[in-house]
Amino acid sequence: MSTPAIDLRAIYLARQTIAGLARRTPLIHSAYLSEQCQTNVYLKLENLQETGAFKLRGAANRLLNLSPAERQRGVVTVSTGNHGRGVAFVAQKLGMRAVICVPELVLPHKVAAMRKLGAEVVIHGPTQDDAELYALQLAQSDGLTMVSPFDDPYIIAGQGTIGLELLEDLPQIDTVIIPLSGGGLLAGIALALKTARPDLRVIGASQALGPAMHLSLQAGKVVPVIEEKTLADSLMGGIGLENHFTFALCQRFVDEVILLSEAEIGATMAFALRQEHQVVEGGGAVGIGALLHNKVAKLGRNVVVIVSGGNADMPTLMRLTAH
Ligand SMILES: *Cc1c(COP(=O)(O)O)cnc(C)c1O
Repeated sequence: MSTPAIDLRAIYLARQTIAGLARRTPLIHSAYLSEQCQTNVYLKLENLQETGAFKLRGAANRLLNLSPAERQRGVVTVSTGNHGRGVAFVAQKLGMRAVICVPELVLPHKVAAMRKLGAEVVIHGPTQDDAELYALQLAQSDGLTMVSPFDDPYIIAGQGTIGLELLEDLPQIDTVIIPLSGGGLLAGIALALKTARPDLRVIGASQALGPAMHLSLQAGKVVPVIEEKTLADSLMGGIGLENHFTFALCQRFVDEVILLSEAEIGATMAFALRQEHQVVEGGGAVGIGALLHNKVAKLGRNVVVIVSGGNADMPTLMRLTAH
């Protein structure tokens, strides 16, 4: 199969493809953050997707672009939760087989959600890399199509549909802050926004414990990371030692990366619940955290923060909010 182009046209096509499956999420003004940062701050609420995270967009675009034969056989993927849940959701709608390989550190409530959607969940090995090797074996033995969580043109274009919505809802947008792990979310949104507005600033936000893309960007090449347990569980893991797309796109588009400590991520989850009345998971909170903790050196006049997911572990969120 030839590699499809990753461009604005691919993102418009993705929007048509996923229209019945992914929601158009609200963009809301944040009075508190606008006051604190002395500018206009808006939140793009991907925590309100039906599966609780934006990953549904990419998963829908990927699965709907399979050939009939591939669809018949099914898919396999590796996930710490949100991508697997997106794939499971779409596979159920399409009546397809989906196998999700997860590392042992995955949160139990995320596994339960995937099983509820009819996916076969296999817990394998301590790290995402271990789970990935197992998934590759399954792909071979069962003829399943491997669906990358981020390093795939259809996934990137699917996540990029968020950028189209932002251009329509806030045409004067000049800064975007995006949670960053493998870089599919950032690459897709940045591609849409920077094609329309080359001078727009793109800021990535990651956890300080094992920020794989940040370390790779600094090194100028893909570097492996040690996975560490973090409140931002959905940002854990490497960017793939054979990264094909997202590393180069992030090299092209990222203007700045902000790192957040565990204390800062926890405080931001509590802030989001108290002040914004949004349930936000750690990985979904890092963009807000970058503003809340005054970490961004240069902000424009119209700043959008991508709130990427809301699948928080409830006892953890309650504990954080009680302080
Ligand atoms: C996957 C995920 C991210 C990071 O997306 P990448 O495309 O891997 O950079 C951010 N937030 C949440 C909630 C996620 O599930």
